[in-house]
Amino acid sequence: MKIESFELDHTKIVAPFVRKAGLFKGEKGDYVTKFDLRFVQPNLETMPSAAIHTLEHLLAGYLREEIDGIIDMSPMGCRTGFYLTIWGDVSEEDMKKALIAALDKVVESTEVPAVTAKECGNYRDHSLFSAVEYAKYVGEGLKQGKGKY
Ligand SMILES: [Zn+2]
Repeated sequence: MKIESFELDHTKIVAPFVRKAGLFKGEKGDYVTKFDLRFVQPNLETMPSAAIHTLEHLLAGYLREEIDGIIDMSPMGCRTGFYLTIWGDVSEEDMKKALIAALDKVVESTEVPAVTAKECGNYRDHSLFSAVEYAKYVGEGLKQGKGKY
């Protein structure tokens, strides 16, 4: 079994970027696109768990306001970014535009949604301050467009 993300040479990429990691066609003709939303540089930087966790909570809503068809967005175990799956054949350009707009909303955020023990599996582990700082950092990097893979 070939795993797409294990084939990517993590020593050659430059974060941040939005990479179309796969396009899948279902039996009934539907398409699903998978994206690698890389926020920080692999093996040099990691987002603290409270930062990536709060970004997950905030972006879950903000990204869905910017682009239709999102199935899931989940943090990478290495804490350098997120995977996102979405219905349809979606371009990197459209996904990047949506992410930049969503990160701008994170920067303006004053509270984190769904942070009670009932709504979240680790509600004590959040940092709005840290999420905002990473949103500024990543958003600025994406706007400059210096990332590559
Ligand atoms: Zn949570």
